[in-house]
Amino acid sequence: MISKIIAEELVQKAQDAIQSAEKVVIIAHVGPDGDAVGSSLGMWHYLISLGKEAKVILPNEYPDFLSWMPGSKQILIYEKEQEHCDCLLAEAQLICILDFNAASRASKMKEALLSSPAYKLMIDHHLKPENFADVLVSEPEMSSTCELLFRLICQMGDFSRINKACAACIYTGMMTDTGAFSYNSGNYEIFAIVAELLKTGIDKDEIYRNVFNTYSADRLRLMGYCLYEKMKIYPEYRTALISLSKEEMECFNYQNGDSEGFVNMPLSMKDIIFSVFMREENGKIKISLRSQGDFPCNRVAGDLFNGGGHLNASGGESKESLERTIEEFENALPSYAPWLQENK
Ligand code: 5GP
Ligand code: MN
Repeated sequence: MISKIIAEELVQKAQDAIQSAEKVVIIAHVGPDGDAVGSSLGMWHYLISLGKEAKVILPNEYPDFLSWMPGSKQILIYEKEQEHCDCLLAEAQLICILDFNAASRASKMKEALLSSPAYKLMIDHHLKPENFADVLVSEPEMSSTCELLFRLICQMGDFSRINKACAACIYTGMMTDTGAFSYNSGNYEIFAIVAELLKTGIDKDEIYRNVFNTYSADRLRLMGYCLYEKMKIYPEYRTALISLSKEEMECFNYQNGDSEGFVNMPLSMKDIIFSVFMREENGKIKISLRSQGDFPCNRVAGDLFNGGGHLNASGGESKESLERTIEEFENALPSYAPWLQENK
């Protein structure tokens, strides 16, 4: 019922790498989201069940709405404990790289990652993987890294090791990367996997509430402010843009993850197929892009913001000011008219 999509040779290599390692470090991308934290912790639960000495290290803090996840207490934050994390990365026999495929997405952890002599196993669903791992389990058609991890564990013959805690983590990433199964989730096998996860006893409604219904009043007010004051619409291009400056974020006591999902909001309008969200972060502008249908927002991310990602969900950065970044975006928008305008 669930097809074996990962090449047997890769499964074997991944299994050998796991079997021959004792000390394992699991890492995910900067600005960790539900899939990054879910897949890292899912992998952690699996490795612990095999008796490994495993640790999860994330480049920076993960959002509060993921702190309920089983195993989250052992997560180390590289930014906060750099020396300790450098030692762990240098001494690891295996580094599992989850939910990213470009070394730059490890942010400040990049050097320690690349210089570690550890064997490197990448498990990821983004397009165009860079070649810095020893084994690449890279499947861009997967809806989430968590889905891919589930399939990998099953193909390694270890389905029975997915306990309730592991299943909760895997379910979370599958849920968040598909907007609670509202997009990129038409493959019926996704629901076959969900069915298997539910059999472990996880409460999917509780997981939904933990992730989506635990907002602070500040966050909700910031959302209202974005929609009421900050949303620009370019009807002729079926595009919307929301931007937030550092000062605006401070006004709403901005916490990590507070703008998660904001980029999706304009897509709920009837005629909007492309949405961009920009915010100031550590002296840079972080840009999120989302699209509907076949408009390639990863192309815009690559063309304008030194970034990339999936067809319908991508991101990038700008070192210019917020005003200048908006201006450059607005100047470039007409060049995408052939895709954005109706009856292309
Ligand atoms: P988000 O908007 O949630 O930060 O990112 C959505 C997707 O865009 C990520 O899953 C990732 O594929 C891609 N992405 C985000 N930021 C960057 C970036 O700075 N560089 C690249 N290459 N991809 C990014
Ligand atoms: Mn993902």
